[in-house]
Amino acid sequence: LKVTYTPIKLKEENMYGMVIVLEDVTEQKRLDQQRKDFVANVSHELRTPLTTIKSYLEALEDGAMDEPELARRFLKVTRQEADRMTRLIQDLLQLSHLDSRKITFHKQQISLEPLLQEVADHFSFQCKERCISLTLYTHSKLPQIFADRDKLHQVLDNLVSNAVKYTPDGGSIAIVAQTDTQGMVEVGIADTGIGIPKKDLGRIFERFYRVDKARSRSLGGTGLGLAIAQEIVHHHEGEIEIDSIYKKGTLVSFTLPPVTGGKKDE
Ligand code: ADP
Repeated sequence: LKVTYTPIKLKEENMYGMVIVLEDVTEQKRLDQQRKDFVANVSHELRTPLTTIKSYLEALEDGAMDEPELARRFLKVTRQEADRMTRLIQDLLQLSHLDSRKITFHKQQISLEPLLQEVADHFSFQCKERCISLTLYTHSKLPQIFADRDKLHQVLDNLVSNAVKYTPDGGSIAIVAQTDTQGMVEVGIADTGIGIPKKDLGRIFERFYRVDKARSRSLGGTGLGLAIAQEIVHHHEGEIEIDSIYKKGTLVSFTLPPVTGGKKDE
C-alpha cells in the first residue's frame, strides 16, 4: 500500500487539514516484477546458447578441427544452438508485436477442417517415425469461423508440436474439433504424454515458464509457444485452457467464435 500525505491549510478560515491518499500498488508491483523477470529470462535464454557456441568454437580452435568427425559434430551443435537463438528471437518479436498490437489480423471466414488436416499432415511423418498415433476427429456440422488463417495455423502448430515433443514413443495424440454447449467452436489437442504437475498448471501460460527447463531446451523449445498461442486465441475473442494429469497426459483446448454472418475482413 502506497500512502501519500498532502497537508493543506485553508487561510481564510484558519483551518489545517491533510489529504491522505491510499493507493493499492500490488498490481503495479506485480507488473514491475514481471517486467524485470522477463528481461532477466531473455538475457539468460540468449546467453545459454551463446555460451555453448563459444565453447564449441574454442574447442575447434584448440585442435578439434583436425579431427574431421569431431569437427563435424561440434559444428552441428553450434548450428543447432544458432537455430535456437533465431527461433527465440522470432518468438520474442512476435510477442512484442502482439503486445503492442502492431500485428494486423487478416480475419476471414474459413473452414477449420482443411487447416486441421494440414497441421496433422505436417506432423504425420514425425509421429510415424516415433510410433505415435495422430488422429483427427472433426464434427461433421462444424460451423465456419472468422479467423486469421496463418495465425491460427501457428496456434495449432505450437500446440500439436508440444503434444509431439512431450509424448514418448508409442503414445497417441488426438485433435478434436466440435461445437461446445455455448455454440463456440472448440478445438482440443489431447496426448498421452508426460503430463504437467498440478502445481505448475496455473503458471504454464506465462512467458518462459517451463516444468523442466533442461528437457524443453533439449527438445528445442523456447518456452514461449503457449504464451503466443494464448495471445492469438485472445485476439480472436476465444479462450484457451490446459488440463493435465501428471505422467498420464495433457489436454489443451481453445475456443473460437463461429461465423454469425455479416462480418467483414478486419
Ligand atoms: P516450450 O518451448 O518449452 O515447449 P511452451 O510455452 O510451448 O514452451 O510450453 C511451456 C511448458 O509447458 C513446456 O516447457 C512444458 O513443460 C509444458 N507443456 C506444454 N505442452 C505440454 C504437453 N502437451 N505435455 C506436457 N507438458 C507440456
